[in-house]
Amino acid sequence: MSDCLFCKIANKEIPSEIVYEDNRVIAFKDIAPQAPVHIIVIPIEHFDCVLNVPAGNDIISHIHSVINRLAIKYDLAQKGFRIVNNCGDDGGQSVKHLHYHLIGGRAMGWPPG
Ligand code: 5GP
Ligand code: ZN
Repeated sequence: MSDCLFCKIANKEIPSEIVYEDNRVIAFKDIAPQAPVHIIVIPIEHFDCVLNVPAGNDIISHIHSVINRLAIKYDLAQKGFRIVNNCGDDGGQSVKHLHYHLIGGRAMGWPPG
């Protein structure tokens, strides 16, 4: 999608601090971190949100395996961390390209606001 911010980041038209990439996924530091570790993990292929991933497509499980690797790399495994997927307007999704937040390095509250 030519006007999608995260497609532009995936295509490296817009610079970001990339912490992981393979042929399906890219992970980069959030521009406005909400915790000491705040990484965005996206599929390179554009999906508006999690609802648009076809049944049988394993991109979500791949993203989760990348998140696990990053949680270990950033030393979050022992104390824990949060994985967030905001979907749609009520979910608080501001960028309409499927993405997961990996957030850690401090204790977090619940429920979300
Ligand atoms: P959402 O609110 O859609 O779940 O999350 C979008 C996230 O993308 C936000 O946490 C926001 O700070 C981050 N973000 C927005 N624009 C940029 C950008 O240009 N670069 C990076 N690295 N992160 C961005
Ligand atoms: Zn996109």
